[in-house]
Amino acid sequence: MQAIQGLHHITAVSGDAQTNVDFYEGILGQRLVKTTVNFDDPGTYHLYYGDEVGTPGTIMTFFPWSHMGRGRAGNGEAAEVLWSVPSASIGWWAERLESLGVPVSEVEERFGEQVLRFEDPDGMRLGLVGTDAPSTIRAWEGGPIPAEHEIRGFHSVTLWLTRSAPTARLLTEELGYVGDGVEGNRQRFRAASDDRALFIDLLERSDGSRGIFGAGSIHHIAFRTVDDAEQLEYRERLISHGYDVTPVRDRQYFHSIYFREPGGVLFEVATDAPGFLYDEPVETLGDALKLPDWLEPRREAIELRLPGFTRRAQPAAAGDEA
Ligand code: ZN
Repeated sequence: MQAIQGLHHITAVSGDAQTNVDFYEGILGQRLVKTTVNFDDPGTYHLYYGDEVGTPGTIMTFFPWSHMGRGRAGNGEAAEVLWSVPSASIGWWAERLESLGVPVSEVEERFGEQVLRFEDPDGMRLGLVGTDAPSTIRAWEGGPIPAEHEIRGFHSVTLWLTRSAPTARLLTEELGYVGDGVEGNRQRFRAASDDRALFIDLLERSDGSRGIFGAGSIHHIAFRTVDDAEQLEYRERLISHGYDVTPVRDRQYFHSIYFREPGGVLFEVATDAPGFLYDEPVETLGDALKLPDWLEPRREAIELRLPGFTRRAQPAAAGDEA
C-alpha cells in the first residue's frame, strides 16, 4: 500500500451547463473528456474536464444545475482550486482572462511561487500557479491554448477549516502526506510523488462561518489510488481508525469510496483505472452523452430532460502561436 500520490479529481456544483462548458473548455482549455449524467440523479449532467485524456490529477468535474442558487464558501469545504502553468505563462494567462472578461487578481506570492487568482462564472475561487516543477499531462492539441501555456493539471486545493490539526493528522498519518510549509494560517501538505496535483493546503479560520452549499461550491475532492486492491486496503485502514467509509461505488471511469474528514470536507479515494477511454476513443471524447449500462434503457427520457449545449473554444489571440 503506497502513500497517496496526489489528487485524482475535484467535483463541484455549477449553474447553467453551457456557461460551465464555455468557461472550462472554451476559456481555460480544459477538454470536456466525458459527458455523462449524475449516476445518483440522472436528470443532471456530470461533466468531466481535464487534459486530452482526463489523466488523474487533471480532472475537474461538475454537476450543473441551472436553477441552483450561488453557494457561499466557508469552513468545512474545499474552497479554492489552483492549477499549474509554466512560470513564464502567468502574464499570458492574465491577459487572456482579462481579454475574455474574467477579472484577475494582482499576481501574488504563495510559498515562493506566483499565483494569479480569479473566479469561475459561479464565483468559485480558482487560480493558476507559475511553476516549472514536473507535471506529466497529455497536452490537448485540439484545444484553444498553445501548448507552451497549457494548464498542467492541479497544483493544489485549499480546505477552509475551523481547526486544521485533526485534518492534518489524517493527511499525514493515514494518507502519507508530509508537511511542506506554513505561511500565516495556511499549512501546506505534499503527496508522496513528484508529479502533478501534489498539494493540499489547510487554511485555519478559527472564527470563520461554515459554507453554504450551492453553485460554485466544491462537493468533494478525490485522492488517487493505483488499483482496486489498494483501495480496499485504504478502506480497511480508514475504518479501523474510526472513519465511516462507504462501500466501493462503480463510477464507470474509476471506482470510489467516500468518507468525511474531521473538518467536514467530503473525501473520496478513487482508482486510476479504467479511465475515460473505457467507452469512447480519444478523438471523440466528450462528444456524445455516455450512460452506464444500467441507465441505457432510460436514455430517451434522460436526454429529453437535459439541456443541450455546444462546445465553442475561445481562440488564443493572434500571434500567440509563435
Ligand atoms: Zn468524485
